[in-house]
Amino acid sequence: MKDECGVFGVFGHLEASELCYLGLYALQHRGQESAGIISSDNGEFYVVKDMGLVGEVFDSNRLESLKGSAAIGHVRYSTTGSSHAHNIQPLYAKTGQGKLAIAHNGNLTNAGHLHTLLKKEGALFQSTVDTEVLLHIMAKLKDMELSERLIQALSKIEGAFSLVGMNETCLFGVRDPHGFRPLVLGKKDDAWVLASETCALDLIGASYEREIRPGECVLITESGIQSIQYSTISMPKQCVFEHVYFARPDSIVYDQSVHKVRKAFGRALAKEFPRKADLVIAIPDSGNSAALGYSEASGIPFEFGITRNHYIGRTFIQPTQSVRNFSVRIKLNPISAILKGKSIIVVDDSLVRGTTAKRRIVALRRAGVKKIHVLISSPPVIAPCHFGIDTPEDSQLIANHKTVDEICEYIGADSLGFLSKSGMLSAIDGLDSRSFCTACFDSNYPIEIKDKGKYSLESDPIHFC
Ligand code: SF4
Repeated sequence: MKDECGVFGVFGHLEASELCYLGLYALQHRGQESAGIISSDNGEFYVVKDMGLVGEVFDSNRLESLKGSAAIGHVRYSTTGSSHAHNIQPLYAKTGQGKLAIAHNGNLTNAGHLHTLLKKEGALFQSTVDTEVLLHIMAKLKDMELSERLIQALSKIEGAFSLVGMNETCLFGVRDPHGFRPLVLGKKDDAWVLASETCALDLIGASYEREIRPGECVLITESGIQSIQYSTISMPKQCVFEHVYFARPDSIVYDQSVHKVRKAFGRALAKEFPRKADLVIAIPDSGNSAALGYSEASGIPFEFGITRNHYIGRTFIQPTQSVRNFSVRIKLNPISAILKGKSIIVVDDSLVRGTTAKRRIVALRRAGVKKIHVLISSPPVIAPCHFGIDTPEDSQLIANHKTVDEICEYIGADSLGFLSKSGMLSAIDGLDSRSFCTACFDSNYPIEIKDKGKYSLESDPIHFC
C-alpha cells in the first residue's frame, strides 16, 4: 500500500515558500512522485512544480522565484489521475472571482460523476486528477464570499479530502466530514501553518495548535482565523492505517502519538500471540515501534536484525539473474552475525500481497535463522481503499482469498499471526473505536463509493507528450 499525498500551507510569513519547502521535506514519505508550491504576493501567484522528490524539484533559484507571504505545497503519489506533469498539485485557476489554488490529500468518491456533469456543461479539464472538479465547481459559483463558495462547493463533493488552498487574500484548510485524512493547524511566530502531519510543524519550529476537525473549514486572512463547522456527522471515520503505517512515528495524528500507538499495537500483539523466541526484530522502519512494544510486553530482547539502506533512489537498474533477490536485499539486509541459529519473532506493520514477506523470509533463512514467527501489527487487509490510499485490487490482496494458515505456508514462516481488529482499535487510547475507518480490514465502507467501476477520469485522458 502506498502513501497518498501530503499538503502544507503558510499564511503571514516573509519566508512562506521556504517554510513550505521544508514542510514538504518532512512530508516526503506521503508522496515521492512529484512536488509543487504556489505562493501568493500582492494578488500575483507564483508556481513551481515538477516530477521528482522535493530536493530534486526545488533549488535556491526556484525558491527565490516563489515570492510572497502565503504559500501552499503538495507532495504526490498518484492515487487518482496518472503520474504526469499535468496532474502535479497544487492545481490553480483564474476564475471570474479571482485566482484560486488547491492542494488535496485524499480521494473524491464521486469525482467521475461530477466530471461527466461538468464536461456536459462545457468545463474544460486540464488534468485527470479528481481535485480539479472542485476548482470547476467553485469557478461556477458567482457573486459570493470565498467562504460561501467553498462551503457550497464542498457540499457537492464526497469522499476523503484534507485540503489546503488559497486565493489572493486568504489561506484555507478543510477536512471532509468523516475526517478520513489528517490535517493540523500550527503557528510559527505570527504566521499560521496547515500541514498533513505535525512532523512538518516540528521541522520549521512551529507549535502544534490543534487538529482541524472533521467537517471543519478554517479561513486565515490578515484579520485572523475563522472556523466554520460546515458539516457534522455523528461519528467520524478517520483512517486507522495512518497509525498502522502511513504517518511518521514522530507525528501526532488524531491527537495521538503515532509511535506510542504503534508500541501499544505491539503490546496487544504480545497478548494475542505469546511466542517463545530468542529475539524480536522489526521490518524497518514501520515495524520498529510495534516490535519494541512486543519486546517490552513479552520480555524477549529486541535487536536490530535487519539493516535498511536509506540511500537508494526510487529506481535502480536490475542486475542480471546471477544476483538473485536483489531488489529485496538492496533495501533490507539481515545481519547474520545476530540472527544465525536463533529463533526469532519478526514484527511488520501489515501484509498486503505477501510477495515481499516471502522474499524476506528466504533472506532470513539464508542468514541462518532457525525459526521464524511473523507477527503483523494490524489485521489482514482484505479490501481495497477508496479514500486516497493506493491499494491493489481485491484479487491481489492475499488475505482476500487465503486463510492465515495458507498465507503462512505461502510466505514460508513457521507461524503467522495478525493483530485482531478489536485489539488494534482498543490499543488506541482515548478515542472511540467507532471513530475509525477500518474498511480495508472488514469491507465496511463508511460511505457509498459512487465511482466504483462506473466512472474513471482516466477513461478519457488527454495525452500530453
Ligand atoms: S480503507 Fe483502510 S486505508 Fe482506506 S481510509 Fe479506510 S482504513 Fe484507511
